[in-house]
Amino acid sequence: MSYSQSPGAAALAYPTCGLPILACHWPTPTELPQFCSCGALDCPTPARHPLGTLTPHDATRDLAQLARWWQATPAANPATLTDPTHLGVIELHHPANPDRIVQLLNLHTVDPCPIIAAPGRLHLLVQPDPTAAAPDPTAASNGTLTSHAPGTLLLPPSRLMSGQRLRWIRRLSHTTRLRPAASVLVQLRDVLATGALDALHPLLTK
Ligand SMILES: [Zn+2]
Repeated sequence: MSYSQSPGAAALAYPTCGLPILACHWPTPTELPQFCSCGALDCPTPARHPLGTLTPHDATRDLAQLARWWQATPAANPATLTDPTHLGVIELHHPANPDRIVQLLNLHTVDPCPIIAAPGRLHLLVQPDPTAAAPDPTAASNGTLTSHAPGTLLLPPSRLMSGQRLRWIRRLSHTTRLRPAASVLVQLRDVLATGALDALHPLLTK
């Protein structure tokens, strides 16, 4: 899956990784996104809510349905759903270059989670663990851990209202091979406790 892959091609590939997919609105116009494609100037969740009359319950792994959605709306953002049993997301908020952050996580042997780079944060995909304590934002020195609220999760190459596209830093192989949230959280807290991320300057973009 290359960075230049179209939203439709990505949407059709994700079900093989175990992800149900939902078509969402997108930013428009293309060059200078100012509006959500739903047309509401005051859209509360611009470019990240289900298309038209769709609801999260319509997320599907049916390739024929996905093909119909993206034939009708090729620019639609692909999203999946987080839930308490199949897919959880830990967000690591940090302003530095996400590739540099992941290099540091690798050095500290954090379990190799699939990772999506979004502006100012990383989304680490994990096996949800309802018994795991929720991330405690106050425990972070530089970089803050939070849980992604259950609901729709935009997937690469979705475009954001900033004009940026989400991208994979480390790809998902299959949802059945995700690491448990609890152990990943412990590892992330250990890395933060070392102060390793403190040294990453926000303006260090390469
Ligand atoms: Zn909208």
